[in-house]
Amino acid sequence: MPRIHSLPPSVVTKIAAGEVIERPASVVKELLENAVDAGSTRIDIDLDAGGTDLIRVVDDGCGIVPEDLALAFAPHATSKLRDADDLFKIATMGFRGEALASIAGVSKVTLQSRQPDQPTGAELRSDGGALSAVRPWNGAAGTRVEVRHLFYNVPVRKKFLKSVATELGHVCEAVTRLALANPQLHLVLRHNGKLVYEIPGTAGLRDRIALFFTGEVRDGLYELDSGPGPLRLTGFIADPKCDRGNAKLQYLFVNGRWFRDRSVAHALQESYRGLLMTGRYSIGFLFLTVPPDRVDVNVHPTKAEVRFQENSVIYSLVRATVKGRLMRENLIPQLQMPVGEATGADAGAFSPRREVAERTVAPWERGGEEPNPLTPFPKREGGTGPVGFFASPTRPAFQERLPFGAPTAEPVFPAPVAVAPPEATATPPPLTATAPFPLPPAGTALQVHDAYLVLETKDGMLVIDQHALHERILFEQLRRRMRDGKLEVQRLLIPEPIDLPAEQAALVLEAAGPLRELGLEVSDFGGNTVLLSSYPTLLGRRPPHEIFQGVVDYLLTKERPPTAEAMLHDLTATMACKAAVKAGDRLTPEEIAYLLHLRQLAEDSHHCPHGRPTSLLFSRHELDKQFRRI
Ligand code: ADP
Ligand code: MG
Repeated sequence: MPRIHSLPPSVVTKIAAGEVIERPASVVKELLENAVDAGSTRIDIDLDAGGTDLIRVVDDGCGIVPEDLALAFAPHATSKLRDADDLFKIATMGFRGEALASIAGVSKVTLQSRQPDQPTGAELRSDGGALSAVRPWNGAAGTRVEVRHLFYNVPVRKKFLKSVATELGHVCEAVTRLALANPQLHLVLRHNGKLVYEIPGTAGLRDRIALFFTGEVRDGLYELDSGPGPLRLTGFIADPKCDRGNAKLQYLFVNGRWFRDRSVAHALQESYRGLLMTGRYSIGFLFLTVPPDRVDVNVHPTKAEVRFQENSVIYSLVRATVKGRLMRENLIPQLQMPVGEATGADAGAFSPRREVAERTVAPWERGGEEPNPLTPFPKREGGTGPVGFFASPTRPAFQERLPFGAPTAEPVFPAPVAVAPPEATATPPPLTATAPFPLPPAGTALQVHDAYLVLETKDGMLVIDQHALHERILFEQLRRRMRDGKLEVQRLLIPEPIDLPAEQAALVLEAAGPLRELGLEVSDFGGNTVLLSSYPTLLGRRPPHEIFQGVVDYLLTKERPPTAEAMLHDLTATMACKAAVKAGDRLTPEEIAYLLHLRQLAEDSHHCPHGRPTSLLFSRHELDKQFRRI
């Protein structure tokens, strides 16, 4: 075993650089942060070969005193911090005094700087950390840093660099983050002499988002503001229809600093639960303001992560603000029909969207077919159009099939007194427990294909997926009852033993807590047997072991154990789905009326718990456009 010895400074620097400077984008990030800390209003970035040959960052900030130039290259030398206490009230991007030293250790750097109120400035060069003499320099006020031949003296690192395009991509990402965090900053990025981005200082956050992520994203944005207070969340989220296949468009900032955080990202994503399909991600640009003494930014080498003093408070703030904002929006997806495509029967390519549109047209209106006098579209007195309520007196009543929707047996969700089109009443009508369901007024709803309800609203024509809507309603009722502790549970006289493979039995027992909330009481019987001693009454006649298998199947599909909240949500959705009316079920007028009534009471009637829309709006405007009326 060799003896212990201190490492020479050049090695120390390279070790430090190993953590902070991974690739050209890391250099750009550090230099940009220094320029921001210097109070710059404009920053120009020039790269050659993805930044591997040259990175030049020029700012118009406060500059550096000539005598301090050499210190700027020294490790742990900074103007931003005095003592350890300062670490807990950091208001600058940098504070460790490490970046320039690290960059200088693995490249050839020229640092030139002049303070705005001084006639001359100074210049200093570093070659792998070896400093030249300080020379006068008379360039523009501000600081100019040129980094050439990155990793020329660390061949191993150089080998890890990717293609020019990839490295440029990383630099663009660093520039994007900084540009979003500093919306007054004029930023110019050039690569091999060609302009990549020019973002004027007048371009606000919305414009910047449009510039980096297209106008489509900008147009889908909703502004957020949790309101004044020591903790504040501002920024933008996007409509669920602008979802993405990954979380890359979830940008988080705290006190002007980009950071990544699983908990905050989770809060954002959770707020969209039920609005997005599985595997889809929301778009969000979240800006947190937190008193500096309540967030520790000194926990990660590149400061990409932070630690909040009150993680759960931040989580709730994000969740409540985003969710509240989404609730305020009308999230019915608008059906857009391609203009100029549907010009007739021979209109060329068939699109599924057109099929949806055509299905809402009565058969005879498509031409060729005679109106059928027996067709279930009776013209009603005073009605404005075809109204179809298919009589089916022999079927069991909808309420019976609704495990907890029956108005007489169900005091919590009693029947409506009157039914009006959903848009006609802003607040739900008063309820009494015994009122019958009157027929909906003419023109209210028409069931088509035993699967969809079509109704007129003030904005156009609404097509509702009866299964998706009912599923959503049941889901919300279930959830409300669980929350209020009003979920009826059926105790089994003799608990039912269920044999499972060992790992499945373990999975089920691990999930015993959330399962109990759902009314499923499980306990360990020993061996690989699990005892089921209760189940939710609302699941009615379905055999308990069948419910149980659904639960096990769900648990098995999860790579990692789901959080209790996620599991409750998913299992509730599964149960609601099983109990809801299906496509193919013909509904009586009363059932339609009841369903539409419940729709008004639903918190989110626009999406089923799996994120599929429950309704599509064919707007009046779109219809007029398609029929060439406008
Ligand atoms: P830190 O930013 O953590 O202080 P750096 O190594 O990045 O450490 O920079 C060291 C010091 O050099 C800074 O504290 C700052 O005083 C000075 N400096 C670096 N870049 C600039 C710049 N663009 N304009 C003004 N001062 C700068
Ligand atoms: Mg710095």
